[in-house]
Amino acid sequence: MSRVPSPGLPAPGLRVLLIEDQHDIAANIWDFLERRGHEMDHCADGASGLARAMRGGFDVVVLDLGLPRLDGLDLCRRLREAGHGVPVLMLTARDTLDDKLRGFAEGADDYLVKPFALPELEARIRAVQRRGRPPSGQAVHGPLGYDPDTLAAQREGRRIPLTRLQGALLDVLLREAPRIVPHARLIEAGWGAQGADVAALQTQIYELRALVDRPFAQPMIQSVRGIGYRVVAPA
Ligand code: CA
Repeated sequence: MSRVPSPGLPAPGLRVLLIEDQHDIAANIWDFLERRGHEMDHCADGASGLARAMRGGFDVVVLDLGLPRLDGLDLCRRLREAGHGVPVLMLTARDTLDDKLRGFAEGADDYLVKPFALPELEARIRAVQRRGRPPSGQAVHGPLGYDPDTLAAQREGRRIPLTRLQGALLDVLLREAPRIVPHARLIEAGWGAQGADVAALQTQIYELRALVDRPFAQPMIQSVRGIGYRVVAPA
């Protein structure tokens, strides 16, 4: 989840998804940000960019406005409608107030006009990532979140109260998502030193799914037979 830099150390690299169809621009941005220590991923059209962004795992999305297959504004709106809060920095060749206002209306966090200097891009990426960071303590993956302070999950704008045990399990699953969390680790998180058996864990996960998955179109908690569970954002 949110990584807090230690004093005196350089700021940690961010996981950046770049959605840009112009190959030369994409290559320049990729090379610059990668050299600056960021972990880059790239899609060259709107449809594949949306699918990749929906899977989650990014600190920031850098989104070109004019894209083939799905426009940047539509992409941003669909991402927000699905409940994804990932910070979005929009790039555009046009410097018009109308584009800027439409971008913000569709959920973009900031706006940069081409051509721009690459250090400026990096500064803006860091700024939107800091502003977009979820409140401390909160665990989020895709459209599903959990706040240990209120023992409530959130999904697609709905607040879902959980028991302390359900909350402890969801918290670990979200913090590790989309990685698999083994049964033993979940049992330790839920029951502590006293432990429990896998059947008790299965019962709790069943109840958790009834609350955070069943009311929604796509389930997010997956069972990995014989190993554990994981949370995966809808495609
Ligand atoms: Ca373009």
